Amino acid sequence: MKKTKNQITRKTLLYKTGVEYGDWTINHVQGCSHGCLYPCYAFLMAKRFGKVHEYTDWIKPCIVSNALELLDKEIPKYKDKIESVHLCFSTDPFMYLYDDIKDMSLKIIQKLNDNNIRCTVLSKGILPVELSDLHKRNEYGITLISLDEKFRKKTEPFASPYDARISSLLQLHQKGCKTWVSIEPYPTPNIIEQDFDAILSKVAFVDKIIFGRMNYNSQVTQYYDYKEYYNELSQRVIDFCEDRGIEYHIKDGTITERERKRA
Ligand code: SF4
Repeated sequence: MKKTKNQITRKTLLYKTGVEYGDWTINHVQGCSHGCLYPCYAFLMAKRFGKVHEYTDWIKPCIVSNALELLDKEIPKYKDKIESVHLCFSTDPFMYLYDDIKDMSLKIIQKLNDNNIRCTVLSKGILPVELSDLHKRNEYGITLISLDEKFRKKTEPFASPYDARISSLLQLHQKGCKTWVSIEPYPTPNIIEQDFDAILSKVAFVDKIIFGRMNYNSQVTQYYDYKEYYNELSQRVIDFCEDRGIEYHIKDGTITERERKRA
């Protein structure tokens, strides 16, 4: 097990997000030990706004030590406006092997739930079984873009192994929790050749699937027919979900209208 070495304090925590499937959110950690190399949009933004200088800084997470105190002040102010809080868009609430981050995230979710605020969670770590004791309206998700561990080590070097990640989600599903999977950022075949249906089958137990293309990676646009490729996979997600009564969301920009050929 690891422990965060650095702590920071913040002035505010809860904020409304402009992201397409989010309502309000919090990022109670700065940086993320998972160190994804797709690249990670949160890292690119943190670098652009001078919060971190290098990748080596980014992968040393700093916990926001006053997060619970901030929530005590902010929840009464905003609770009537909040439909749900997402953990997290710019870090990971269950960073692999970091018990102090896990403990803090569980306390935050508990506090929000105590105020009748529903939470949605997304992680590339291991979702702890304690989540099943919390509010049943919460939704717990993992990111899964492959089943190939060699690819995982290359692209999400310090995140949890895929099997353990999926098992933690399955366990929550078996305990009656609502679960989802984010298949995003999904790579093109020139990055990795893989069986898309095998990934879908592995997570067929979930309540919702989100699918999205890979962005900010020049290899994607080098793939000769990447637009058609993402259109085809999106349709496979839609068919897979509709056949099984699974909710789905295809992220903006993943489906492109076919260009009309001139007569
Ligand atoms: S888990 Fe998310 S926030 Fe963390 S490095 Fe990967 S993409 Fe970035």
